[in-house]
Amino acid sequence: MSDPTRPKGPRIIAIANQKGGVGKTTTTINLGAALAADGFNVLLVDLDPQGNASTGLGIKASQRQLNTYDLLLGDVPLEDIVQTSDVEGLLIVPATTSLSSADIELISNEKRSFLLFDALRQPAIDQYDLDFVLIDCPPSLNLLTVNAMVSANSILVPLQSEFFALEGLSQLMLTIREVRETANSTLRIEGVVLTMYDSRNKLSQQVEADARENLGELVFQTIIPRNVRVSEAPSFAMPVLEYDPSSKGAQAYMQLAKELVKNNAMNTNVEGT
Ligand code: ADP
Ligand code: MG
Repeated sequence: MSDPTRPKGPRIIAIANQKGGVGKTTTTINLGAALAADGFNVLLVDLDPQGNASTGLGIKASQRQLNTYDLLLGDVPLEDIVQTSDVEGLLIVPATTSLSSADIELISNEKRSFLLFDALRQPAIDQYDLDFVLIDCPPSLNLLTVNAMVSANSILVPLQSEFFALEGLSQLMLTIREVRETANSTLRIEGVVLTMYDSRNKLSQQVEADARENLGELVFQTIIPRNVRVSEAPSFAMPVLEYDPSSKGAQAYMQLAKELVKNNAMNTNVEGT
């Protein structure tokens, strides 16, 4: 892709929130698919030992011999680890439970916080001409998540439209501040995106009002509605954009991709796809 306005190297975005079940994996898969549909080259790094993003994109266990563990700790060529997915323009490094032992092995490693940073900056990454790397973080503020934050340009935080949604955000922000002070001074917050929003539910409206009041501009205009098609798609090993492109969920993720691209002052359809 020869877009002269394109900065050197991909934009690396970590999808993080230490709460489980808030929509991290769903957002990583579907934002990735939406950006790919807009013509961008996207690499999804599955950094959760549960490997839900890998499963949701149809990467079978037998296809995960080489995975994020090897990306972090192995001495394996990148070409052997990065896989294509069924979604055009979307590449993936899958995860297996081996990653949970990595979290422990990392502790005694001198470069423990910088392994993903180094992996994503090796010269071999250039062959993929990536525009975006999206990192699906585990539901914890462990060393894996710290690796994501150290390697990323920005953090995207999914916020479930539920009671206590904002609780825990301060701890996340504290970790981001620590990473800024120690390892990655330019780390930005890409934005907070409300997920599983039910417009008929007063609670959803209240969470939105609270988020916009407390976080202001950081909250994406785009809201991801609770939509059954979104939750069905992974069992068909597809992003919702392919499973049901006209669904409210698919439309919302397309919209989110456009808003993100606009915020980053990038041009869509970089190659006129
Ligand atoms: P996390 O990665 O933060 O643990 P997930 O993305 O796995 O969260 O989402 C948790 C559950 O909620 C999953 O079963 C997923 O299918 C469902 N889900 C996520 N977003 C939506 C949505 N917009 N509408 C309906 N279900 C959703
Ligand atoms: Mg997940």
